[in-house]
Amino acid sequence: MSATVAGAAVRTVLGDLDPAALGACDAHDHLFLRSPGLPGEELDDPAAAEEVLRAFAAAGGRAFVQWTPAGLGRRADALPGLSRATGVHLVAATGLHQAVHYDPADLERRYAGLAGFFTAELTTGLSGAPEGVRAGLIKVAGDYHGLDAHTRRVMAAAAEAHHATGAPIAVHHELGTAAPDVLDLLCERHGVPPGRVILGHLNRHPDLRLHRRLASTGAFLALDGPSRAHHATDHHLFDTVAALIEAGHADRLLLGGDTTTRTARHAPGPTHLLTALAPRLSREFGPDAPHRLLTANPARAFATEWQEGGREGAGG
Ligand SMILES: [Zn+2]
Repeated sequence: MSATVAGAAVRTVLGDLDPAALGACDAHDHLFLRSPGLPGEELDDPAAAEEVLRAFAAAGGRAFVQWTPAGLGRRADALPGLSRATGVHLVAATGLHQAVHYDPADLERRYAGLAGFFTAELTTGLSGAPEGVRAGLIKVAGDYHGLDAHTRRVMAAAAEAHHATGAPIAVHHELGTAAPDVLDLLCERHGVPPGRVILGHLNRHPDLRLHRRLASTGAFLALDGPSRAHHATDHHLFDTVAALIEAGHADRLLLGGDTTTRTARHAPGPTHLLTALAPRLSREFGPDAPHRLLTANPARAFATEWQEGGREGAGG
């Protein structure tokens, strides 16, 4: 791996990576996460994170994308060491979650220069990380069946940072809703290409007609589970996957464990994607399906022709 790669690259915490070298990828998960909404369930232990990554690697996992945005305990300081120790490529996020996850005064302070902050985290370095450790995606969040003023503000800044860097934008959808509003705002209003948008949690709202329409825009759909946190949706995960594959959208699908609590980490954990989900994908959709959904699609979704804050050729 080198700090710069000619052409499109996945930006990991250890540098830019040829997308062909990404390998089997958990496309939406968390090693570290701390929110006032999940008291006692903080993911804040580097030793536990290392254990998760070692188990994931032993099952054939090679890459892990952490969607934890700024201010939620993402532990950017620990990520490079964990990647070195376990050999798993780690991709970190900039961005912000819904307003409810932050202290209002902190948020007010963050609003000043938000797009510049996201851009700097993608091109110069993550705040709180060793020098030169950069984010590889921008995480934002919608609201339940709509978008409030905070989420519109954050999404406008995310779009601006996308235009300056090329970075993909990954979206938390509250209970799987408001994805059409998100695509209207990011793509129609702010000009982000749909293929650079990753729509998360849609299996929490299993409206298969809507899913097919969203996939037909060219956006990626990141489905999560099996996961203790998403147990309520696990039973229709394969119906959702089947509906999209049968409609010709297999190249738009991503899968992730989305571990958000300590309890969820123990079982099934990200390893389950490889030990349980992959064999079933193969049985139900053919032997190419696991590689396609777990390796080829994430390589395309996270590969970026990086621009260094709006100018080409800054390198390093
Ligand atoms: Zn998540």
